[in-house]
Amino acid sequence: MTRGISRRGFLKAAGAGVAVTSLGAMGFGEVEAAIVAHVRPFKLATTVETRNTCPYCSVACGIIMYSKGDVRKGEQADIIHIEGDADHPTNRGTLCPKGAALKDFVHAPTRLKYPMVRKPGSDKFERVSWDEALNRIVRLMKDDRDANFIPKNAAGVTVNRWTSTGFLAASATTNETAWATYKVVRSMGIVGFDNQARV
Ligand code: SF4
Repeated sequence: MTRGISRRGFLKAAGAGVAVTSLGAMGFGEVEAAIVAHVRPFKLATTVETRNTCPYCSVACGIIMYSKGDVRKGEQADIIHIEGDADHPTNRGTLCPKGAALKDFVHAPTRLKYPMVRKPGSDKFERVSWDEALNRIVRLMKDDRDANFIPKNAAGVTVNRWTSTGFLAASATTNETAWATYKVVRSMGIVGFDNQARV
């Protein structure tokens, strides 16, 4: 695309203008103003666009979320449409069936929105704050590492292994986050390390 207008912006402008220019070419130029005044606006015309990354797999396709209500003005935002980002170098506007169904994922009543814990002996999950969740995770990790860390193997060779705790990370992340996560996990000696994409 030429500088100054994105591929998506070009498609948007072209779509908006095609009806008017077609009529004009047929000699109906005088009705252009009336059409512009009365044409039904596209359903996305008044939405707020937010770029994001599909959370499902390590392809990390770019998406655009369209929402009604502007959080920057203190309004409650409601996502009404999600589509692939035509300007994103990875997917160039395309989405697989999982990514194409993202709006339903966002609005699913079963979607996990905050930390929850099922305490020992309990039969139900309870909501906890992020502080509670992080403190609990750190406490349990420390206790388990202190109890089970293996500094040397049977032959006396230093191995620094921690095999009783595993770590599951997210693949839809940046290279920098992935690098930091890997360094933290491996430096603690954790052997079992994976993510949802198994890469
Ligand atoms: S749209 Fe499909 S391929 Fe792309 S990141 Fe999401 S799940 Fe992966």
